[in-house]
Amino acid sequence: MTAATNLSALQAPGMTRAVQRHAHPSADFDAKLARTQALLQRAAADCAPVTQASSLGAEDVVITHIINALALDIPVFVLDTGALHPETLALLERTRATSRAPVTVYRPVQEAVVQFVAREGQNAMYRSIDLRKACCGIRKMEPLARALKGEKAWITGLRREQSAARAEVPAIDTGEARTKFNPLSDWTWGDVWHYIATRDVDYNALHDQFYPSIGCAPCTRAISLGEDFRAGRWWWETSDLKECGLHVKTTEGAPA
Ligand code: SF4
Repeated sequence: MTAATNLSALQAPGMTRAVQRHAHPSADFDAKLARTQALLQRAAADCAPVTQASSLGAEDVVITHIINALALDIPVFVLDTGALHPETLALLERTRATSRAPVTVYRPVQEAVVQFVAREGQNAMYRSIDLRKACCGIRKMEPLARALKGEKAWITGLRREQSAARAEVPAIDTGEARTKFNPLSDWTWGDVWHYIATRDVDYNALHDQFYPSIGCAPCTRAISLGEDFRAGRWWWETSDLKECGLHVKTTEGAPA
């Protein structure tokens, strides 16, 4: 049973689900999908070991679905920061139960989390950007380094349309220590939801509550009509470059 099915009974009358609101494909959707499939096949054939980083957001469930549909040898990993929404954790369990590709969960070092919270408090991320980045470092970046250890390449759901900081995202990024494939780089939000709608892909129930971008619960809110795609991430910060570090490069080209 999909999240869409689960939620159907909970929708207020007249409220449309994300899959109904957004599924409007580009005129060249079929060609984009064919390029994405070819790119993933190339990643599996030429760049093994390669893995998909999934936040369990809409883009990532599409990529996992294509990996499974093509029976590609690309395992998936999820960073469970210990601060995810219940909806995301529920989708994680469903994905682990149904995915052909193995799904591995990486969690932060508990001791580091306990010490950080004891020292700075549960809501330290709201006090300064440095504290927010320190929290991301413990809960995301350190587990990410473990997840990518030994991998030749990784696959992300980055799209150029998501933010100004991602406007130049290439389909294949060789500017880091390992190759990064961004197979949906030229997809629109409508393309993503068209794929979900036409393949009946299970998706994160938060999308039905106006969360276009999925992150940790304390740092992600729903957006309003007209707000930017990533306006709900670290919304109290004013920087245009709101990233947790996973996709930020240093001047040397390595992940920050
Ligand atoms: S997104 Fe928020 S809760 Fe999650 S790791 Fe970063 S600062 Fe911590």
